[in-house]
Amino acid sequence: MIPSAPATSLTASVDDEMLSRMVRTDQMVAVRRSVLAAIPINVVLSCTVALVALHAGRAFEGLIWLLLSLALNGVRSYISRWPFAPWPGVAAESGVATSASGRPVGWHLRAAAAMAGASGCVWALIPLLCDGYSSPQAVFYLTVVCGICAGSVTYGIAYALVPISFITPALLSVAGCLVFAGGFDNLSLAAMVLLYLGALMRGALHSDRAFREGSRIRNEATAMATQLRMAHAKSLDAAQQLALRASHDSLTGLLNREGFTEAATLHLMVPDGRQHGLLLLDLDGFKAVNDAFGHKAGDRVLQDVASWLQRETEDMQAVLGRWGGDEFAVLYGLRDERQAPAAIAQALIRSISFATSHYGGHLGVSIGISVSGEAGFADMISFADEALHEAKRTGRNRYQVFDNALNQRLATRRDVERDLLQAIGTRDIGVWYQPIMTSDGREVHSLEALMRWNHPRHGQIAPEDVIHAAASTGVAEPLLRHLVDEVCRGMRQLEAAGSSLAGVPVAINVSPREMAQLAVDDIVLGMLKLRGIAPRRLQIEITEEVALDTHATRGRLSALSAAGVAIVVDDFGVGFSSLASLRSEYVRQVKIDRSFILDLSSSPGNEVLVDSIVQLGHSLGVQVVAEGVETQAELDVLRNLGCGLVQGYHLARPAPLPDVMAWAAARSAPEPIKAG
Ligand code: C2E
Ligand code: CA
Ligand code: CA
Repeated sequence: MIPSAPATSLTASVDDEMLSRMVRTDQMVAVRRSVLAAIPINVVLSCTVALVALHAGRAFEGLIWLLLSLALNGVRSYISRWPFAPWPGVAAESGVATSASGRPVGWHLRAAAAMAGASGCVWALIPLLCDGYSSPQAVFYLTVVCGICAGSVTYGIAYALVPISFITPALLSVAGCLVFAGGFDNLSLAAMVLLYLGALMRGALHSDRAFREGSRIRNEATAMATQLRMAHAKSLDAAQQLALRASHDSLTGLLNREGFTEAATLHLMVPDGRQHGLLLLDLDGFKAVNDAFGHKAGDRVLQDVASWLQRETEDMQAVLGRWGGDEFAVLYGLRDERQAPAAIAQALIRSISFATSHYGGHLGVSIGISVSGEAGFADMISFADEALHEAKRTGRNRYQVFDNALNQRLATRRDVERDLLQAIGTRDIGVWYQPIMTSDGREVHSLEALMRWNHPRHGQIAPEDVIHAAASTGVAEPLLRHLVDEVCRGMRQLEAAGSSLAGVPVAINVSPREMAQLAVDDIVLGMLKLRGIAPRRLQIEITEEVALDTHATRGRLSALSAAGVAIVVDDFGVGFSSLASLRSEYVRQVKIDRSFILDLSSSPGNEVLVDSIVQLGHSLGVQVVAEGVETQAELDVLRNLGCGLVQGYHLARPAPLPDVMAWAAARSAPEPIKAG
């Protein structure tokens, strides 16, 4: 059974007032039709009446009566064609004249009743043509009057007042005349006529009721159907909106990750024998714009980049999408040489700086490309992602095509991702230590903990790759906990062995991604507490990219700093806003990036830079470390510049803890007394 609730709620919105207006309008339209249909009959009968009168020698009276009848029919016909003013919200049938300035429906109904009454009065004058129904033509007239009255009721089913107004004077005049004539037969006939009048009235009222009921039902059904149609259209519209929102990025209007995946998958399924190019773009310097100009400006950059990308790929019939954050994706079928992905990537890299020059010219784009004839979308995107990763790693604002070497790297990465969690559990991921020395070579200032993993199949895995794999497989937190734990164990081992390095602070590295995505403060401080290690024995090295990052990151850093953990800005000098990080209240140390130390002895430019960083550090009370010291010449220059702390292969290479302990023990052993 179909539940009735929805229908009720639908009709509820067509209120009674509106419904009765619709019914009245229907009545009026029907009355007009019936009047216009009845008039020709009325005219024919009137003419016949006049003819009979003429034949009976009553030409004058007959003519006057005919003129009267014709005039009245003319007026009725005329009024029935007047436009009427529809009620607001009520639609009249098509083909019916309406006008805002026309008379209202109620007026027209009343006018129709009045005119019907007038017409009935004309028929009530028939007795003047037949001496009060006593002449030989009386039977004819009586029949005609009764007939026209019956016809009036038959036609006027919509609005009882019209036929009643017509038949009442006409039949009362008949009955009156018969009563006036007197005699049993006439009186009986008069009674019959009155009975007839009553029956006709009853019939008229009955059909009026039936008509209104029919009209109400019809209007209700129409309104319900209209509302159902509207509701259907609305729900279709809503479903379309939902589908659009689910597949599109609201900021740029491009396909979002899901939408792009779906569209690209379909695109690749078309068997057109063509090769396809997939470009994965990642903006360089977007974060700096976001930090410097705020998120609104960041949003505008993304919108501008989306329109730029649309313009640049206009004639390629490409699928475009925002892959996430500041990453965009383009997939297209290759048609000719000019559309070679490398050429497109080159053009994009060249044009982005113009397209976004009003943001200070910092923006570039790194692009990873995969080209394939038969690979599915999932493979193509991971190839492009790998290539993008490589483009970023090797200098940014460049493109990289996915090739055999990257394919090998991808295979490695997949193994790394697969084995990572297990390696944490079995402690196969370990830590090596590299000493940081005072530049006079006398003391070990601290140790830097560097992650090491010797993968059973792929050998040593670069720490950055482990961090990346941990982030993409969701094990960044267990990895960080594990490394802090390893460092704590290392400290305990140094103490237990009575090493000269016991008590020397140990620095761990935390990547920007870890800093942004993990509660590093809680994790680190929690682990230290668990292992009973004082926070001041730990240092955290972060790249300066992070130092001025979000509110959350700053909060984490100051919590760590407040607990006693020293914050070190790593790779100092190779990003944005270096000087600002020197001013920051929680930065205790900066590490000048290795690229400045390289060839220090032969590069006056680097020397000036290092000198000024050292001076700045002195005046701001921040320790300065030079990392990557590989030669005595570099060390000499650094000493001369007053750089207090140094780290590098020339002093000590990273090594497992026992080796570092042995190295320290050898250093502190008393010099054998030289003979002589
Ligand atoms: P970094 O923090 O700048 O670490 C210094 C890197 O330079 C280390 O490479 C170290 O072995 C190397 N190095 C030290 N002295 C010299 C030198 O004289 N010459 C040259 N050419 N290199 C030198 P490593 O261990 O491969 O680490 C690479 C990067 O991986 C690190 O750069 C650091 O950013 C990251 N990393 C290492 N361990 C971890 C870790 O536990 N967690 C996180 N998040 N990142 C880590
Ligand atoms: Ca470091
Ligand atoms: Ca570094």
